[in-house]
Amino acid sequence: MDVKKVIRQHLEMEQSFTGFSLKGKGGTPEPQRQENNHVPTVRCPAESEAEVKDAAEKAAKLEKVAEEVHQCRKCGLGSLRTNAVPGEGNPNARIMFVGEGPGADEDVQGRPFVGRAGQLLDKVISAMGLKRSEVFIGNIIKCRPPENRDPRADEIINCLPYLQRQIEIIEPEIIVALGAHAARTLLNTTKPIGQLRGQFHEYYSGLGRPPIKLMATYHTAYLLRNYSQENRRRVWEDMKKVLIELGLPIPEH
Ligand code: URA
Repeated sequence: MDVKKVIRQHLEMEQSFTGFSLKGKGGTPEPQRQENNHVPTVRCPAESEAEVKDAAEKAAKLEKVAEEVHQCRKCGLGSLRTNAVPGEGNPNARIMFVGEGPGADEDVQGRPFVGRAGQLLDKVISAMGLKRSEVFIGNIIKCRPPENRDPRADEIINCLPYLQRQIEIIEPEIIVALGAHAARTLLNTTKPIGQLRGQFHEYYSGLGRPPIKLMATYHTAYLLRNYSQENRRRVWEDMKKVLIELGLPIPEH
């Protein structure tokens, strides 16, 4: 590991993804959504009694999916994992972030996006003026492939129904597919991420259901490996489109 590169990235992350600000330390404070203003919110906390009930029912259904994931042995990854990583977040989320699959840190903790790529995702979410607890974060596959290799087709085929059910339960308004694996799997395409990112696509969750808007963008792990101003700008442009689509304010950075 190139320690200097990691330290440099960490310092840059502190500056550039604290709201994608390029102003340096002591600049703009991290944007926090005001709880009591009247801008549209990301459905959290649930406001009406009906919403509370709806959230509780969805949470119970998501818990059932998570239990099945924890018991799952449909592919070889089930016997290699320390923990399965079903995903977590707000059952009423308007935005669902979908990554590829757990890495080493996620495997140990049983939670999605908790390693370095996860810290960067937290910064992206925060730059959007949101909190991690307001969105849902999941993955295409729920168990860590050895040595973080790419998920195989059979693993994706076995695991995808869990994510599909999570999407059906949450009914997000927008799915953000992080990276090529998530975008290609959900859109059933082999196009490169460079062609897919930056535009809205349609995710079909089943017969008779309206399609869900899907924004493809770079995976934060890719961004860490290719931490250029240009790539960060591209991700921020993609996330601004998501905020505009949801009628949410775009924090100034
Ligand atoms: N990368 C992913 O795709 N998912 C995680 O949960 C963590 C890192």
